[in-house]
Amino acid sequence: LLESQPGASRITPPDTPQRVRVMLPLPFAGALDYRMPPAGGLQPGDIVTVPLGRRTETGVVWDAQLRLPPEFMPPPMPTVASGRLRTVSARLDLPPIPAALRRFIDWVAAYTLSPPGMVLAMALRANAMAAAPRPAAGWQVTGDIPADLRLTPARQKVLDVAGTGTPLSTTELAKQAGVGASVVRGLAQAGCLREVVLPTPPAFGTPDPTHAPPVLEGEQADVARALRDTVAEDQFSITLLEGVTGSGKTEIYMEAIAACLEKGQQVLVLLPEIALSSQWTGRFARRFGTQPALWHSDLGARLRRVTWRAVADGTARVVVGARSALFLPFARLGLIIVDEEHETSFKQEEGVTYNARDMAVVRARMDAAPIMLVSATPSLETLANVGAGRYRHLRLGARHGNASMPQVRALDMRADPPERGLFLSPVLVSAIEDAIGRQEQAMLFLNRRGYAPLTLCRTCGHRMQCPNCTAWLVEHRARRILTCHHCGHNEPMPPACPSCNAEDSLTPIGPGVERITEEARATFPDARILVMASDTLHGPAATADAVERIARREIDLVIGTQIVAKGWHFPHLTVVGIVDADLGLGGGDLRAAERTVQLLHQVAGRAGRAEAQGHVLLQSYVPEHPVMEALVSGDFASFMEQEAEQRRPGFWPPFGRLVALIVSADTPEAADATARALGQEAPRLEGVQVLGPAPAPLAILRGRHRQRLLLRARRNIPVQPIMREWLSRVKPERGARVDVDIDPISF
Ligand code: ADP
Ligand code: ZN
Repeated sequence: LLESQPGASRITPPDTPQRVRVMLPLPFAGALDYRMPPAGGLQPGDIVTVPLGRRTETGVVWDAQLRLPPEFMPPPMPTVASGRLRTVSARLDLPPIPAALRRFIDWVAAYTLSPPGMVLAMALRANAMAAAPRPAAGWQVTGDIPADLRLTPARQKVLDVAGTGTPLSTTELAKQAGVGASVVRGLAQAGCLREVVLPTPPAFGTPDPTHAPPVLEGEQADVARALRDTVAEDQFSITLLEGVTGSGKTEIYMEAIAACLEKGQQVLVLLPEIALSSQWTGRFARRFGTQPALWHSDLGARLRRVTWRAVADGTARVVVGARSALFLPFARLGLIIVDEEHETSFKQEEGVTYNARDMAVVRARMDAAPIMLVSATPSLETLANVGAGRYRHLRLGARHGNASMPQVRALDMRADPPERGLFLSPVLVSAIEDAIGRQEQAMLFLNRRGYAPLTLCRTCGHRMQCPNCTAWLVEHRARRILTCHHCGHNEPMPPACPSCNAEDSLTPIGPGVERITEEARATFPDARILVMASDTLHGPAATADAVERIARREIDLVIGTQIVAKGWHFPHLTVVGIVDADLGLGGGDLRAAERTVQLLHQVAGRAGRAEAQGHVLLQSYVPEHPVMEALVSGDFASFMEQEAEQRRPGFWPPFGRLVALIVSADTPEAADATARALGQEAPRLEGVQVLGPAPAPLAILRGRHRQRLLLRARRNIPVQPIMREWLSRVKPERGARVDVDIDPISF
């Protein structure tokens, strides 16, 4: 009884061993109890090894008391009797996990209903954990020469060399003295040489806030001053920095970074696609005189280790990262910036499902630091928070310098269709020809990889479908395969229809970038064309190289998928064609319109970023759609208000809370039975509604059958305890599992 009481440790009887709670990066419901080693002295945050079954695991000494809002409190872990406690094996020589990060991990776990160990696992990132690299060492002369030591010429030589200049390693010293390494070791044994540790050069340069500040005038100067003041307040606050593409948002938030550096604190910048950030880091280096530290999943093991330590000891001053950078052990975090805050790629969908934009706000609160959300098209969530007075709002209304906003036109594809079998309308074709004729650049955007999204048999109507998913196979003609964009399944393009055996009957339906490229090569035979898609550009270096070639004007026409929608600055690009502006609008997702506006506006924003006027042409079969109207008029505020009015009455996000439950199983029966059980046990509470079960948007994925339920609740109702209670009442069928997604990105 005593053991299960909170605070029991304060009245520990003298013969009871001291307990330490250790969080392991494993899917347990909480921290485990261990016995303090005889040497004692372990503090929360220390990284330790402990026995677990027959294995040894690395974990972190955790706080005895969780500091979470009551509704987030997970149920208590069972306590181990004192006699059965096992002892912590060792404390590792690693910087401890700071208290703010430990609280953040507890919070993220409780909010997302994930095992805290799985969140900790993201913070530890296996290879960040290896012990410190052995520091470099060299030999120094002690001055002692034992009386019985015979000073051979070889030994004398070594002592001469070691006596001058910086201490050298064994190999280097032996080499310079022209002797074998054993001579050096012999002298060391005799006490004539002493090993000294050489200072390791810092892994990252120190950014200089005064290196190359921009000249700021007008609204840019006002906004920059407001951001600097916010940083100077030195407390948690949330600011939305909204500004049209090319207005200088990046330029301006670099001033907030400068202000934070001047205070000696660290900065975290989250970018949606860090591997594509070569332009950003180049710009940072020009502003601050040195490169920032990077953090993303492609980082090599050594650099990951070095960076993790440099963040922990405070020498990495600015970290630019993907969402996982939120879990780095910052020594003194003073500012967080989330660029392109509306991007859905901030949502992690695998493992712990969390939205890095939202969790960044929590992290800022834990570290008592200001956070700035940056976008040309802020999310409805963020705008609602501005409207409710929770976030500050700063705005840049015009493009910097002589650049003006591009002119956007919707092309009615019903009135002005392309030729049969083609996808570019005559108006778009001549706009591209004109741009290239003026020595300017053009871009075609289509958010779809491959040649064609559907392959159909003209004889029997058979559609080529993925064997593992409810999805069509996408033809990739260059590779002569059909592939599934959901599970990666691929197969050679069959010579005949697999259903009716008709030969030469399989026909591609609809375009992907590959097909658009084929059409562009035929239409603009002299143009230098570059394709930018994730399957044609392998890795950050290839992307950086492509971007460089565009900037150097070695390219006339860029054809790309969403990679081209990132914040690239292509000064010579004046014409942007959106091949299929309607693409994202199907599918019945309530967020589709908002997302389409954000994506297409971002693509459009690549046009006319310098002197010459930019033109954007949207190919659409529904030019009267509010999405096209908003893109043409540039009036996003009105569009977002309409969006809000559609979601408000039904308490859809951001006006209510939403949780998705995805039931998946290897048989449809198990999925159905589990989903039905969840439906029967659904909470019946005032202000809470459960929708479904119904087949999930991808009813079969990777061979697993999927059902979905949605729980919708009023904003003031915490959903975590409701979900915990609900899930505890339903046991999934054999082979079935239930995944919970708090704040799903599509609904
Ligand atoms: P955004 O992030 O809003 O798209 P950027 O910060 O990328 O805008 O600015 C657009 C372009 O204008 C960039 O090339 C940037 O270097 C330049 N620019 C913006 N403000 C200034 C300034 N005050 N001085 C010099 N160049 C600027
Ligand atoms: Zn598939």
